[in-house]
Amino acid sequence: MPYDAATTIEAALVDALAARGVAGLAIRADGEVHRFDAPDKRRGNLAGWYVCPTLEVAVFGFWHTGEQQAVTLAGEHDPQAAEQARQAAERARRERLARREQEHAQAAAQARQRWEHGRPPDPGHAYLKAKEVKPYGLRQQGDTLLVPLFFNGALVNLQRIAPDGGKRFLPRARLKDTASLVGRLAGAGRVYLAEGWATAATLHEATGHPVVAAMTANNLATVARTLRQRLPSEVAITVAADNDQNTPGNPGITAAREAAQAIHADLTWPRFPCVGCACSDFNDLARCQQEGGT
Ligand SMILES: [Zn+2]
Repeated sequence: MPYDAATTIEAALVDALAARGVAGLAIRADGEVHRFDAPDKRRGNLAGWYVCPTLEVAVFGFWHTGEQQAVTLAGEHDPQAAEQARQAAERARRERLARREQEHAQAAAQARQRWEHGRPPDPGHAYLKAKEVKPYGLRQQGDTLLVPLFFNGALVNLQRIAPDGGKRFLPRARLKDTASLVGRLAGAGRVYLAEGWATAATLHEATGHPVVAAMTANNLATVARTLRQRLPSEVAITVAADNDQNTPGNPGITAAREAAQAIHADLTWPRFPCVGCACSDFNDLARCQQEGGT
């Protein structure tokens, strides 16, 4: 894009960012990577970045969308400027990965500390009672349930569940490819893979098989691949989808089908006896049946 009117890289970058809805930045053309808030996300998101490798080239982008754009004073077909922009974008990417690794390590330390201070969970905890499940492998801190999330065998994150069912992961902790286990993998002939922890607990209770909870629909496929790699080939895997019947596109079944296809696993999802209800997972199904299909 031409920024012919601009006479400095700072001014050219300001113009280019303004066209993307980003205003009020004091540009520093010092060769370092700087972060700023993306306009389409919450304040403090710092999902935007820019770097000016020279006084003629700038690159900016957004981590959450992956897009990036080069801004040059010399004109967009200058191959040297383009190469400088490419290298600057690569450096920004590496810095971001390093920063995220550091944040993950700090959050994992916090997860371990909270977990070590956690006490045995109260089986009468409001969330467990509402979901009608036992506190398999959980701990409790205050009135908050702690669901341990593992990555490569190490505790790296916690899902904290409040009595009212409100759920939060530790901030800046690793979530991708993390999972929690209900039951024991050793000696299992079949392993289930589900989304949420309560769903996993219900499936474990109903089937006796170990159940891995991937926490989010987005995580199902990566956790499925990891599970397939780790488990002996004779161990069968069933992906137990959430049936998000009231959400357009049914993201639960869509993601579970992708995960199952990726590793040639079996796929199942809950069929609800109720009509027009809010049921969406196997835990809902278990309780829906108990209520006589209401
Ligand atoms: Zn129902």
